[in-house]
Amino acid sequence: MTKVKVIGAGLAGAECAWQLAQAGVQVDLYEMKPQKFSPAHHNPNFAELVCSNSLKNDTLEFATGVLKAELRLLNSFVLDCADKTSIPSANTLTVDRERFAALVTERLESNKNINIIREEVTEFDLDEPVIVAAGPLCSTGLAEFIEKITGGRLYFYDAVAPIVAGDSIDYDFAFYQDRWGEVGKGDYLNCPLNKEEYINFCQELSKAQRVELHSFEHEVNFEGCLPVEIMARRGIDVLRCGPLKPDGISIDGKQPYAVVQLRRENTEGSMFNLVGFQTNLTFPEQRRVFGLIPALHNAEWLRYGVMHRNTYINAPKFLNHYFQLKTHRNIMFAGQISGVEGYTESIASGLLCAINMIKYLNNLPLVEFGTETCLGALANYLEAGSEHNFQPMHINWGLLKPIDVPKKEKKHALAERALSKIAEIKECI
Ligand SMILES: Cc1cc2nc3c(=O)[nH]c(=O)nc-3n(C[C@H](O)[C@H](O)[C@H](O)COP(=O)(O)OP(=O)(O)OC[C@H]3O[C@@H](n4cnc5c(N)ncnc54)[C@H](O)[C@@H]3O)c2cc1C
Repeated sequence: MTKVKVIGAGLAGAECAWQLAQAGVQVDLYEMKPQKFSPAHHNPNFAELVCSNSLKNDTLEFATGVLKAELRLLNSFVLDCADKTSIPSANTLTVDRERFAALVTERLESNKNINIIREEVTEFDLDEPVIVAAGPLCSTGLAEFIEKITGGRLYFYDAVAPIVAGDSIDYDFAFYQDRWGEVGKGDYLNCPLNKEEYINFCQELSKAQRVELHSFEHEVNFEGCLPVEIMARRGIDVLRCGPLKPDGISIDGKQPYAVVQLRRENTEGSMFNLVGFQTNLTFPEQRRVFGLIPALHNAEWLRYGVMHRNTYINAPKFLNHYFQLKTHRNIMFAGQISGVEGYTESIASGLLCAINMIKYLNNLPLVEFGTETCLGALANYLEAGSEHNFQPMHINWGLLKPIDVPKKEKKHALAERALSKIAEIKECI
């Protein structure tokens, strides 16, 4: 059988290499450490967790917990190593990061189908099967090569606005209207604030706690894309003249003092993003301060805003939902560089790539996971996201195909549906 080149032995690459090897595929696994370290990597071992040592919630109450359950059903290698090196931490899966990375490395090194090459890759043959899993801090040489073969730019700085669940918005304090359009119609959901609410919001925003940047992450603020807390610090009316501008919006014939606009993230309206809300506040502060917007007082935050250096491909433009490059189906992207966000999601994409690379090499139909499963929903986001404003996404309920059950039963029903579909798929892999 043909050899597969896997570039990067992080979370995605480690999962991918192991799964391919277990299926009898010969793997050349390239890792540039310890010859060369990204600014956030320090440990020569594989699957290094660069920041938190938590893989987040591990219960079926959260989509990330369901994703883990799906991965376990499909015998994820990296998740198994995480389970074996976990440390107590309530409902989350938290690992001893040193033991975790050491175990992943040891097992990969002793797999006879994996040939480990400690070298930076800066180019590869476009006709060979390759899985690029070089992560959000992919080396510059490789990033430039990818730009050359796709003809598209890799994105290097992320400014992601928060996303709320559609069914957690208080619609007594929100209404649809496009600017200058008819009230009750349009694509934008407006969340008005009166003068007192606006002033209080700006004051809390300007003194809220921000995330400390890594030493290599110089704050890059473009005037057209300033974090909202920086705008609030510049003066009380700055936000009212920017993202909270009320022009062209009216309620009962009167213009509100300020308006936060929400825009649908998907056709079902299960997810809305806060338009123009780039932010670097800590997650608890985003919950506290953005929760002061009357329509969002009970909001469920599906994704928080983040700003950090990130390298990822414009997936809707260049990839299909099997993580294959549209122009070269033998080349796949896994992990954060493919447009998923987060540790567990990176592992998940590594598993998906391996499953479908094996099918591809054997000329068999690729596996469809469907948006009933967290794995399929993540893959679908890559293909269905907006090409013009694509940003990496972690798993959340809003990505899954909606289910018609009362709200309090929703999570349980979604989890049950996802896991039974994975059990079915497993039979056919
Ligand atoms: C600073 C930072 C903090 C983050 N914190 C979190 C967090 O707390 N929680 C969370 O869920 N997610 C976090 N993420 C997002 C993401 O989940 C992690 O970056 C995750 O490790 C991504 O997995 P990956 O396999 O795609 O990449 P990585 O785990 O980064 O693995 C990529 C590997 O490829 C290697 N490599 C790169 N270029 C080359 C090359 N040219 N040739 C050979 N090898 C190469 C690297 O050395 C690395 O080992 C963070 C991201 C960043 C940048």
